[in-house]
Amino acid sequence: MAPAPAGPIRIGVDLGGTKVEAVALDGAGRALARRRVPTPRHDYPRTLDAIAGLVRDLEAEIGSGGTVGVGIPGAISPATGLVKNANSTWLIGRPLDRDLAGRLGRPVRLANDANCFALSEATDGAAAGARVVFGVILGTGCGGGIVVDGGMLTGPNAVAGEWGHNPLPWADEAEHPGPPCYCGKRGCIETFVSGTGLARDFREAAGRDLACPEIVARAEAGHGDAEAALGRYENRLARSLAALVNVLDPDVIVLGGGMSKVKRLYAGVTRLWERWAFSDRLDTRLVPPAHGDSSGVRGAAWLWSDGPGVPEGGTT
Ligand SMILES: [Zn+2]
Repeated sequence: MAPAPAGPIRIGVDLGGTKVEAVALDGAGRALARRRVPTPRHDYPRTLDAIAGLVRDLEAEIGSGGTVGVGIPGAISPATGLVKNANSTWLIGRPLDRDLAGRLGRPVRLANDANCFALSEATDGAAAGARVVFGVILGTGCGGGIVVDGGMLTGPNAVAGEWGHNPLPWADEAEHPGPPCYCGKRGCIETFVSGTGLARDFREAAGRDLACPEIVARAEAGHGDAEAALGRYENRLARSLAALVNVLDPDVIVLGGGMSKVKRLYAGVTRLWERWAFSDRLDTRLVPPAHGDSSGVRGAAWLWSDGPGVPEGGTT
């Protein structure tokens, strides 16, 4: 028997490239129910149906309505109110938040998935209680988000935290101009510090393909080619985060995504990053996520951390 819900119900939805996940949190952040369905790729109306269906199913299961926040691989443009920068391209140019609000009969808040990750870890995760938090997802790509005093920082262009599309700092000759990035430029941080970037670097140096977990396992087992690739990765991540510290100086940096599971990175990067930071020492904490893969969906729910539990007419 589930515990009785405490406080307002907040529903979070994480719209990913392969699956849509949803969770209902009570006021204390306890997960009351979870659901997931495959993402209806390249089909906007069915994507709306999938999200609305998950919300209604969760509400039926827990017997209560809630607020709805959605994390997306992109952002709502403040200028147009339409989705931009989404690698799920069928969302681009759509008023996703308004369309969902229409289907669900209540306001719906949307945010970038990396921002949701940062918000989750800052609210009740690895960076709880910290004033300035940078969350970065190191997975297929590389997204970043900033939370200050418990609130997400987005900015007039909705790109705050998108450090992954700055160039790799202090690049050497071999790293310049760097691999092409899907954003249209070359040498973006993302092309080096994403899991995809590690696999590409290994392939170019070793002449064969290995998936990231295998590269990490081979490095741990002492294989020279994998160890060298992971060493380059650590050095590049240390440089990239030192440049970020020089701008934002966050109290805590939380890593997420597949590469956040590589335990040696935390000591490895913090041993190196002082070389590049504009400070004689760095007291920044670099930590793994407390909520793991659930952080995206939890952060989407926390988009309503300042708001009412059940908006007027919002129950189903
Ligand atoms: Zn880029």
